[in-house]
Amino acid sequence: YSTTHDADLVVIGAGPGGYVAAIKAAQMGMKVVSVEKEPTLGGTCLNVGCIPSKALLHNSHLYHMAKHDFKHRGIEVGQVSYNFPALMDYKVKAVKALTGGIGMLFQKNKVQLVRGVGTLVAPNKVEVKGEKGTEVVNTKNVILATGSEVTPFPGVQFDEKQIISSTGALSLSEVPKRMLVIGAGVIGLELGSVYQRLGSDVTAIEFLTSVGGIGIDGEVSKTLQKILTKQGLKFKLGTKVSGIRKEGSVVKVDVEAAKGGNKETLECDVVLLSIGRRPYTKDLGLEKVGIALDDRGRVPVNNKFQTTIPGIYAIGDIIHGPMLAHKAEDEGIVCVEGIKGMPVHFNYDAIPSVIYTHPEVGWVGKTEEDLKKEGKAYKVGKFPFIANSRAKTNDETEGFVKVLSDKATDVILGTHIIGPGGGELINEAVLAQEYGAAAEDVARVCHAHPTCSEALREANMAAYIGKPINF
Ligand code: FAD
Ligand code: NAD
Repeated sequence: YSTTHDADLVVIGAGPGGYVAAIKAAQMGMKVVSVEKEPTLGGTCLNVGCIPSKALLHNSHLYHMAKHDFKHRGIEVGQVSYNFPALMDYKVKAVKALTGGIGMLFQKNKVQLVRGVGTLVAPNKVEVKGEKGTEVVNTKNVILATGSEVTPFPGVQFDEKQIISSTGALSLSEVPKRMLVIGAGVIGLELGSVYQRLGSDVTAIEFLTSVGGIGIDGEVSKTLQKILTKQGLKFKLGTKVSGIRKEGSVVKVDVEAAKGGNKETLECDVVLLSIGRRPYTKDLGLEKVGIALDDRGRVPVNNKFQTTIPGIYAIGDIIHGPMLAHKAEDEGIVCVEGIKGMPVHFNYDAIPSVIYTHPEVGWVGKTEEDLKKEGKAYKVGKFPFIANSRAKTNDETEGFVKVLSDKATDVILGTHIIGPGGGELINEAVLAQEYGAAAEDVARVCHAHPTCSEALREANMAAYIGKPINF
């Protein structure tokens, strides 16, 4: 080995799960080595996920507002156009600032970074193959946080120009005239929105009969589909793709009704495949230490994030649960606290989901479909943004807040928001749910006026006493 290190904890992977775990462990006095194979830190989320997609979503929205919405507000800006390379450059700068920030946080907290591919060669030994040769770290504990990768479509190769994954969609060199999106889940709706706003003719093909992916409330999904359709996105639901092929500069996509029959071939310039992600555990050496994956390729862990091998833990996209950055981060923190002997508490019923379309969608807890399936008696409190004074002044009135609470105890079971700032507003609902609040509790909390947050309060009022004040 070119170098040998000793550590209390090695974290393999420096995405949101891994980098947060590494910093937390260092703050708690452990000697920590972070192992990362890519040249920049931050994993999928910062490099090719949450951050670049939100930069493009925000700026394409501003462009869309300037072009189509400013005039009726009394703002005149003349001819509005965009400079696509400059839009992309803005995104690159946002990513660079944030990934660089993790390097500084590592230095500040004395986390040692070892660059290269990390492999378990024994439960307490991690080999790192990097540019400087092979280094080894002897360690008391290991956290596996190697994240996920795009689920491929059988028989189709990504060229990231005409047949693209989300990664290609975040760095196209021009805006395609026609784009087909396979999978109307979170990525399909977000990145489909970006290109639709920039002028592409976008059609999303979805196997299911609803949009928004797993866990979205049915009524919210229908509303979202209606709003996005009005914006210009097209949907082909209940449709499966049977083949994708390139013919020169055109991509042909064969589709048929999911139930069978009705075959047709669609054409586009670029096809975006967004049919989900799968855990990434390549090169980890799991077989060497005796860790077997489950039937979905995930690393099995108990409620302390321990794998079957003592001293080896796993968090984030490679384990059970939703593939979300904040879920990975929070698991990283409690996992480290557990290693230090503290209690490990993680409430999977209180993880927010957000779709960063316009308007934003945010939810936490159970959907109406979940509660019906469970046979649980529940109350519904709904409040539309059209009756919220701030939404009205801002002319952002599409959508509603829906609170579901236990019919007998009034305890909040789920909150579903589609509307202005839904991704921010949902965090108040998460706080309430994490603390076991009843709808009455939120309804009695004083909320600033005029804010869109008052819609959440009124929905809780509706759930608790049957009637909101302003609707
Ligand atoms: P990752 O972020 O995937 O990080 C794993 C790291 O491990 C990577 O840096 C990888 O290089 C490294 N690695 C892997 N194997 C090894 C090895 N053997 N040795 C060394 N290093 C290794 N989530 C949200 O919550 N909000 C969003 O808005 C959002 N938007 C998204 C948009 C897109 C387009 C995509 C693709 C994802 C988005 N996600 C979002 C999901 C989010 O990115 C993931 O849930 C999150 O990154 C998972 O974190 P992680 O730490 O488990 O893994
Ligand atoms: P997803 O699971 O959200 O959506 C995939 C969609 O593709 C589903 O609706 C599914 O029914 C459909 N599908 C699957 N196979 C298909 C086929 N052959 N033909 C047509 N449709 C098909 O997955 P995604 O959008 O690829 O996102 C991947 C992951 O990244 C998700 O787990 C998500 O949590 C995460 N992510 C999160 C955010 C966010 O939090 N805002 C943003 C982007 C990505």
